[in-house]
Amino acid sequence: MRKKVLVLEDEDNIRGFVVINLRRAGYDTVEFALGEEAYAYLREKNDVSVAVLDVMLPDISGFEVCRRLRGSGSNIGVIMLTAMSQESDKLTGFTTGADDYVVKPFSVVELVARVDALYRRVNGGGFNADTIVDGIFELDLRSRELHKGEKRIELTQVEYLLMKSFLENRGRALSRDDLLDMVWSKDYQGDLKVVDVNIRRLRLKIEDDAAQPRHITTIWGFGYKWES
Ligand code: CA
Repeated sequence: MRKKVLVLEDEDNIRGFVVINLRRAGYDTVEFALGEEAYAYLREKNDVSVAVLDVMLPDISGFEVCRRLRGSGSNIGVIMLTAMSQESDKLTGFTTGADDYVVKPFSVVELVARVDALYRRVNGGGFNADTIVDGIFELDLRSRELHKGEKRIELTQVEYLLMKSFLENRGRALSRDDLLDMVWSKDYQGDLKVVDVNIRRLRLKIEDDAAQPRHITTIWGFGYKWES
């Protein structure tokens, strides 16, 4: 499935703002102002992972879109945008098959975080070959993002490749040469110290206490090992 989010919202400025922020977060987007049009798109195409549906629309409601979607057997992620005054919307949303809801007025950061969480869930979570899960760590091989619990850890590309190498070789001692081959390619002519420098930086990001690392442990005179 593509990393595409559908945004259904009749208020142009809100829709535009949501779309811009989702794109910044790395999603493709498709947008609609009418429920019937959004539903027609979803029924026809199969490239949307998550749909953000406003409830109040000029034609059919976001709930109706969701109800029809579920009725047709769709299992895409659905987030409802509900009005603050309507507490019952939350309940209605869940009974129509929504996965999550965000109350208006909402923070777009919060909405993107919900989309991220739902996207990961829709795409299989821990059972998906596109993610490697180890305890509280979750490495997304598509978006190249690392999460430690709820916290997203920003990685450089080198740090990402180190992390991937470790998680694919859990419990195995990896020499500095092994890591150089995996991360910097076999042609790399530089100093082995580049491994140590990057490990030190990665530890600062992922360990609770980088001075006493529990996950990336040192094998003296050899290299490093990932401890689950
Ligand atoms: Ca509306």
